[in-house]
Amino acid sequence: MIELSNVGKAYGKIEVIKSISLSIAKGEFVVLVGPSGSGKSTLLRMIAGLEGITSGDCSIAGKRVNNLPPKERGLAMVFQNYALYPHMTVFDNLAFALRVQGLSKNEIKERVARVSAIVQLDQYLDRKPSQLSGGQRQRVAMARAMVRDTGLFLFDEPLSNLDAKLRGQMRVEIRKLHDNLGATSIYVTHDQTEAMTLADRIVVLDKGNIEQVGTPHELYEDPRTRFVAGFLGSPS
Ligand code: ADP
Ligand code: MG
Repeated sequence: MIELSNVGKAYGKIEVIKSISLSIAKGEFVVLVGPSGSGKSTLLRMIAGLEGITSGDCSIAGKRVNNLPPKERGLAMVFQNYALYPHMTVFDNLAFALRVQGLSKNEIKERVARVSAIVQLDQYLDRKPSQLSGGQRQRVAMARAMVRDTGLFLFDEPLSNLDAKLRGQMRVEIRKLHDNLGATSIYVTHDQTEAMTLADRIVVLDKGNIEQVGTPHELYEDPRTRFVAGFLGSPS
């Protein structure tokens, strides 16, 4: 589904992503972990088309996308800071893109119900953003990205500002959505617990390099570097 071949990114002379190669199969849930500044967001944004690629190639579904604008890549990028339409209800914020796509009323209702349940806002569909807390608004923003069934989700630390209980619940729901849709997902986090519980495969990044790739079990049982052992072993 996604093929990165020797992908690199430099800002001036500083290489923040150093020749990364990675294949992600359709249906996989891949988690990118690494400390702050390791290049996780940059790599995700390169796949999304929000950052240019300095060297190498990125393909999605068999098509080279190096120069393709984000909107034409058939993916949904889920992050927290996403603007909402202030004059529309939560329902309409979520339904907007689906109406543009021309989906039927029933289908729109079903999709909105599904994602609003995931972010635990199904009781708030009639409210305007100004009638929600900051955390609730963030969850509407997430739901708005997830409501479009693109088949490919890119998540950038979507749960990092939420309290532990909600984070745990939403983590389970995100994985369920992924499984139910048969989607392919790349999920960025610096939280080891999230990585270990969500991932089919974990990619450990450090300083723009891949340190190791493997299932949670493989990385836990057989960390190839001290960095990986320390990173996945230490509490978040
Ligand atoms: P992470 O998401 O893992 O915390 P980032 O991908 O945000 O890391 O950043 C990786 C590195 O790239 C950091 O050292 C950061 O300072 C640098 N960086 C990110 N964006 C820019 C930019 N626009 N200009 C220069 N350096 C940048
Ligand atoms: Mg980041």
